[in-house]
Amino acid sequence: MSIKSNAEFDIVVVGGGLAGLTAALALSTEIAQATEAAIGNARVALVMPKSDRIDGRTTALLGQSVDYLEKLGVWQECVSLSAPLSTMRIIDGTSRLWRAPPVDFKAVELGLDAFGFNIANAALGNALLSKIKAQSKIVIIEDSISDIQSGAETAQLTTANKQSIYARLVIAADGKNSIMRQKAGISVHKWQYPQMAVALNFTHQYSHNFTSTEFHTEEGPFTIVPMTDLDGKYQSGLVWVMHPENADRFLLQDLAKQEKQVEEKMQSILGKISFATTAQQFPLSGMIAKQFADNRVALVGDAAHLFPPIGAQGFNLGLRDVREICTFAGNALSAAKDPGSLQVMDQYNRSRRRDVSTRTGAVDMLNRSLLTDFLPVQAVRGLGLFALANIPVLRKFAMRQGLSVARQKPSSAA
Ligand SMILES: Cc1cc2nc3c(=O)[nH]c(=O)nc-3n(C[C@H](O)[C@H](O)[C@H](O)COP(=O)(O)OP(=O)(O)OC[C@H]3O[C@@H](n4cnc5c(N)ncnc54)[C@H](O)[C@@H]3O)c2cc1C
Repeated sequence: MSIKSNAEFDIVVVGGGLAGLTAALALSTEIAQATEAAIGNARVALVMPKSDRIDGRTTALLGQSVDYLEKLGVWQECVSLSAPLSTMRIIDGTSRLWRAPPVDFKAVELGLDAFGFNIANAALGNALLSKIKAQSKIVIIEDSISDIQSGAETAQLTTANKQSIYARLVIAADGKNSIMRQKAGISVHKWQYPQMAVALNFTHQYSHNFTSTEFHTEEGPFTIVPMTDLDGKYQSGLVWVMHPENADRFLLQDLAKQEKQVEEKMQSILGKISFATTAQQFPLSGMIAKQFADNRVALVGDAAHLFPPIGAQGFNLGLRDVREICTFAGNALSAAKDPGSLQVMDQYNRSRRRDVSTRTGAVDMLNRSLLTDFLPVQAVRGLGLFALANIPVLRKFAMRQGLSVARQKPSSAA
């Protein structure tokens, strides 16, 4: 197909969350750096609705996620906005029979300065969008997609404003309730957890010393992650996973009571605290798409997989989706081939299955091991943490596992 009109694109990215913005920047960078005319002249669009919702969360970026953002030329803008994560501490905060001692994972044990960096989602999103706009290689359409029909040569997308646009490949980054996924006929395996995550940022009296602390409780993890200072005060992000009815009770309290409860829960390890953002809640569920690409639609980020915010894996996994599909599509375009062909769909499906299944399974197992009342499982979890605390070789192995998939080389074959 040759591109004929302003509404025809080689690739359309749908969704302006972190995954969609990174995909758009990756493609924009490929076009900007291209030496072959075939990809240098590629037409790419990003469709994103105007959003008035401020994402108050932070994201811990691990391993090569940071290297990838650096390669895309955006990390340089983010360095001063992010806090390094030098130590990750797990504290068994359950009151169960099998309780383990605290385990510290130190980046220095792997010869690293930090496992990664924690950054506010809004700051990362703004940096990505500014870079995309500065490169001016792709068309930004402020709209949302309501329908898609895939054909032999293109997919036809209909926007909420009744515009028609055409794409050879659609990169669907439209989140967990992805309309693109449903319209492409991709079914999912999904499940629920009896948990709600409450997320907020707070300033505190004592330094976090770049240590992320995860209290394991019977209702889920209570995780504090270092952030950059706010107005000269130490700052951290909190993700507190609890039963939905306890989350409701927590959120109904006034600010002073919420702050007191959070400080008590973290055993005042950071001294006096004060909320810097309003608490937001996120119901926890799990989902994995049965295919990651079909009918000219490739799923990335939460559109492809979803799991509880434990061990900072969600967006890190989404970045690997983005890296893979952009590599496959970029290779196809460079060779003047169809970026939405069956071959590209097939390559992407095969390349993502193992990584996504492994991460989803591991996070699910860890989360369920906290929730269970079954004594042998509690014992195994307690002994596992005990072994990690006391056996350096095992601890190093676990640390590498946390970062390992991110350290895989990106696929290059088209
Ligand atoms: C409390 C919490 C803490 C987390 N912490 C971490 C962490 O530390 N590290 C980590 O790696 N991950 C973390 N995650 C996971 C991470 O936040 C998500 O995986 C990531 O934000 C998903 O980004 P996304 O772009 O795929 O989806 P989304 O952020 O949901 O973005 C989807 C976008 O698509 C747009 N959209 C939807 N429908 C349409 C349509 N029809 N047309 C056009 N646009 C559309 C939406 O407006 C939205 O902007 C956390 C998750 C939670 C809940």
